[in-house]
Amino acid sequence: MKEIRELMKEQVVLGDGGYLIELERRGYVDSGSGREKVGTGRGSGQFTPEVAIENPEALNELHREFLKAGSQVLQALTFFGTREKLSRAGYGKETEAINAAAVKLAKEIAGDKALVAGSVSRTQLIEREGMESLGKARDHIAEQIRLLKDAGVDFLILETFFHLAEMKAALECAASAGLPAVATMSFRPLITACTDGHTPGECARVMGDLGAIAVGANCEQEPARMLTLLREMRKTAKVPLAAQPAAFRTTDECHSFTRLKAFPDDLETIQVSRTEFVNFGKAARNEGIGYVGGCCGCNAAYIRSLAHGLAQ
Ligand SMILES: [Zn+2]
Repeated sequence: MKEIRELMKEQVVLGDGGYLIELERRGYVDSGSGREKVGTGRGSGQFTPEVAIENPEALNELHREFLKAGSQVLQALTFFGTREKLSRAGYGKETEAINAAAVKLAKEIAGDKALVAGSVSRTQLIEREGMESLGKARDHIAEQIRLLKDAGVDFLILETFFHLAEMKAALECAASAGLPAVATMSFRPLITACTDGHTPGECARVMGDLGAIAVGANCEQEPARMLTLLREMRKTAKVPLAAQPAAFRTTDECHSFTRLKAFPDDLETIQVSRTEFVNFGKAARNEGIGYVGGCCGCNAAYIRSLAHGLAQ
């Protein structure tokens, strides 16, 4: 496989879909629903990736499905895999094992047919303890990136960050580790600004300045709504755009599915159809987006639809 930057020069790179919600639907991931108010960050079991060591065959199967659907990149399921987040779910001591196992599984399925990206997300410390915990968050992210590098990922996808300040710390950690990084912010409750108040355009500029090889957005919105914010990012981005929309319909009042009542137990009621991803694939190609995939709610059928859209 060519290196990710080379691939993006030649074509729109097709990534994969969302792992945790799909594996939750299959019975392998604990959403935390029923024990706590989701989103507060208290308690345990909120969409953490211990499936990599507890049910590796389930994770392998989902990797295989994405690969068969056309994914050129498989993400190791290391989302929410910092020691901070895993500790709150009772898996802190398994931090090394979970990150290593997730990368190993993805590499086994990818073989020479796909690149393997390490997924790194926010620690949730900033949401819980405020900006003074940024140094602690940086240490946790740096540790996870070291584990992913040791396990042999090809590059990083820094995703679902709500605060640009934490994303900046993550990009600095990626640069220190010498790993290329795709950087995508998540916007809620509206697409006009991230949680620490920066517009999509500002986020795109800053992430690019800090060395991201592609910048964009992931999660929270369906494709059509995300396209609006991607166009804002394109005005300031000096590197390719990256997009991994969710497959859930949001409203004009609330642009984020995790802030809707349907999350997490009634997501099926706001699922968007695969046709929206065919259309998004077409738009991505026409508008020069460099990297597309799906986030929460996207199984292999959605990735195949994206592939169809890209090919039209
Ligand atoms: Zn998502």
